[in-house]
Order: sequence, then C-alpha cells, then structure tokens
Amino acid sequence: MRILLASSEVHPYSKTGGLADMVGALAKTLARAGHQVGLVTPLYAVVRENFPQLNPLELPLELPLGPQSVSAKIYTLNPSPNLTIYFVDVPRFYDRPELYGYNGVDYPDNAERFIFFSKAVAYLACHLPWSPEMVHLNDWQTGLAALFLRHQAKTAGQGSFPGVCLTIHNLAYQGLFPSGQYPLANLPWEYFNVDGVEFYGRMSCLKAGLVFSDVLTTVSPRYSREILTPELGCGLDGLLRTRQNALFGILNGSDYEIWNPLTDPYIQSYSAADFTGKARNKELLQMELGLPADPSIPFFGSIGRLVEQKGVDIMMAAVPEMMQHKLQFVLLGNGTPDCEAKFAAFTNRFPSQFAMRGGYDEALSHRIEAGADFFVMPSRFEPCGLNQMYSLRYGTIPIVRATGGLDDTVIDVREDAEKANGIKFHDYSTQALSKAVRKALTLYAEPELFHQFRINAMSADFSWDRTAAAYINVYKRAVHK
Ligand code: ADP
Repeated sequence: MRILLASSEVHPYSKTGGLADMVGALAKTLARAGHQVGLVTPLYAVVRENFPQLNPLELPLELPLGPQSVSAKIYTLNPSPNLTIYFVDVPRFYDRPELYGYNGVDYPDNAERFIFFSKAVAYLACHLPWSPEMVHLNDWQTGLAALFLRHQAKTAGQGSFPGVCLTIHNLAYQGLFPSGQYPLANLPWEYFNVDGVEFYGRMSCLKAGLVFSDVLTTVSPRYSREILTPELGCGLDGLLRTRQNALFGILNGSDYEIWNPLTDPYIQSYSAADFTGKARNKELLQMELGLPADPSIPFFGSIGRLVEQKGVDIMMAAVPEMMQHKLQFVLLGNGTPDCEAKFAAFTNRFPSQFAMRGGYDEALSHRIEAGADFFVMPSRFEPCGLNQMYSLRYGTIPIVRATGGLDDTVIDVREDAEKANGIKFHDYSTQALSKAVRKALTLYAEPELFHQFRINAMSADFSWDRTAAAYINVYKRAVHK
C-alpha cells in the first residue's frame, strides 16, 4: 500500500512524548514490510541542528492562510528503503526551540502553525508523484487535513482521493481555537457547525479529524472504549459513539530496536538470562544521582510529562509516605517550573532517598528504565503509555493504575498468578498508590517471586509487526470505502 503519515513530532527527529515514538516506529515497520511510506512533519530547529544533510524537494508550496499566502519548502530524508520523511520548512512557524510552546505556555500562533501544517499535509497527499492511497493523521495538529481533503474531493468533482485514518493519541488535547481563527482555514462557513469543526463556539481541530476521517483509531483497546463514556470522552463521547463502527483500538508497539536492554547503547547490557548488567546499571544510576549505592535498597523510577493526566498530584502526595520505607526514588519529569520545583524540594528533605531531574533527557530515561527495580505510572488516564512497556522489557516491574493502555499491557497477580508482571491499583488516590508501593516492597522481599515477575515482564511481546499489520487492516477499510 502507498501510505502518507503525518505527525507534528516524529522520533528520532523531534519528540515531546509517545506520539513521536509511535509514528516513527509505525513508519519504519510499514516500510520494512514492503509498503511505500511517506511521513510529513514540521522542520523544527532541533531537526535542522541534528540532521543538517536534508535534501531539498522540487515541490515548493504556496498556500493561503487566511488573507496571507504562505510559502514553504519541503526537504526530505530517506532513513531506510521505502521510507521518505518530508519536512515542511516555514522558518517563522517551526524554527523555534520548542515544538508547541515555551515554559509550559503554548505559542500564541499555534492555530496558524498547525492549520498551515494540515494544509501542507493535504497538499502533499494530492501532489506527491507516488499518489498515496492512504493518509494517516495523528492528533489535533493534523486533524484539519481530513477536512481539507474532504473539501477538495467535494469541490474537485472527479479524481481519486486517498482514504483517511486519524489516530487519537490523547483526546484531552483538541486544538481548540476561537472561531475568529477559522478563516485561516479558507473554508466555507458551512463546516463551522455542530456537525463539523465547531465545539461550543470554538474551532476544534481534533473534531475536524473525528468527523471527516474515514476511520479512527486509538492507541489501546481499553482507551477506545473509555472515550465513549462521559468520564473520559472530553465532551466528544457523543460524537465518538456515532462513529463507533469506524473506531478501532490498536495497542501501540514498543520499538525494540531502541528499547532493548541487550543492545541499548545508553546502558550496560543485560538479558533475562543474566541480570548482572542490570545490577550494575542500578549501581551506576545510584552513583550518578548521588544516592547511596546499595544493591539491597529497592529503587523506584518514574519518567514522564508532569501533567495532571500522569497522576502527578497523587504521586506528589505519596512521596512523604514512600520515604518512610527503606527505598529510593528517582523522578525524571518535564513540567511547569512550579511543579518541577515542588518535586525538587523533596531532594532537600530526603537527600539519600529522593532524586529529581527536570526537563527532558533521553539518555537518562534509558538509564532509569535499566537501573530501577520498579517503575511508577499512576496515570489518571492513559491512552496507551509506552514507559510501562519499556519497563517490562527492561525487567523493571511497572506499578500502574488500571486505566487505558496500562490496563491492557500489565498483568497483576490477581489476574493471572503465573503470568503476573506488574502491580495494578484501581482507585485514583494517594492511598491506593501507597498501598501498591507497599505491595512492591513485599514482592522485592521475596527474591524468587520477584525474579519470576522479571522473567514474565521481559518475555511480554509488544513488537511493532503485529501493530503495523493491524493498521493495514484498518487502512483497507478506508481505501475500499
Ligand atoms: P505521553 O505520550 O502521554 O507523554 P507515553 O508514555 O506514551 O506518554 O510516552 C512518553 C515518551 O516520552 C516515552 O518514550 C518517555 O520515555 C518519554 N519521556 C517523557 N518524559 C520524558 C523526559 N522528561 N525525559 C525523557 N524522556 C521522556
């Protein structure tokens, strides 16, 4: 199949979260399976710095954006056979230090930046010489491309248009802008209503994708059911229920070329057959963080964006109780300065037990996965979650709240005593998290059982081949619509 993916972030070029990992791995896996794959993404400053050898494409774009006309250059990279990355270069929109905002505040021109990006995606979908059959959009930043394509198909009268799939990586981020920004789309007002892009008087870029794509997916089966409920539907559950027949939950894979303790260049290698390297990683991490390098102390890690979704409030409240026990905890978290500072304050209170690193640090995230004994992920909701899958592969036992993809990927002893590979709790509360931590300590005190959990964890398989095959099946529904 000929597939054009579009995403506002793609690993290894740009990344703030799991979206980048998912799109980068899906593109690579589809290409390896023999499909022709293109991937459109903005040319951010970070891409320019790390990938200076980009090739210009002879396909300059000049597209309207409200009353202005904006031109873009397209650059390409071919990282592997059958795969081309198309970088959309508009320096005034994308050549910036951060992807979406600065210091936790969104850039004020994000409507222009991503409406333009969505237009560029729709344009490339129709003008690339290899005529993509399928366009796969991801999240609100590309949602409007579904409407641009639908509108073009309607007004062109003839010609074949690609099928469109939109993946919801997180329904909580909708790309809502004042209605006054809608003219940037240069579309008739007939789409600005409750059956189109309007969401309570505002323009919703995500809703455009939900309404006008042929098929919709989310990144885990459980999340695909959760978003049909008022509790996790973010006001879009009614619409999603009407599109239920076109909505599929496909669990993300884990990229084992990057997240494999045997080959990971950031760590001392190890495998399920020999945990010597894991013990060494723990010792090195303890030393790096200035914590006592004691192999007997259970070591907890957590990595993630410090936002409400990730359970930051219950985690913060649980820290003092956790510190009553003989354990160590490292948190790598990217959040507002205020939130990072609150966690950092624990390092003064509990200097031999608690370590905090703010900001984004890819290498350290690998060292934590490898060095910790347990991984804490107390999310309020979690569309898929990747770190628990990485933790499993690294023999680092995940402690998760049973929601979304966390529930789909981790097996608690109460579900299956033989296959158990993690610890789950249900209530969204500090007490429930603290209790799960105490269970972890009990498990740690039983070395044979703990070892069995590790073996089970490391044998869990979330390889991308299965995930990519599931996407092809969904694409077929859209192409043969
Ligand atoms: P989300 O996409 O909601 O942020 P996921 O668990 O799906 O959450 O994916 C998060 C990805 O981002 C993982 O690869 C994780 O390792 C990485 N990550 C998150 N925060 C940081 C950080 N502060 N430093 C390094 N990597 C991080």
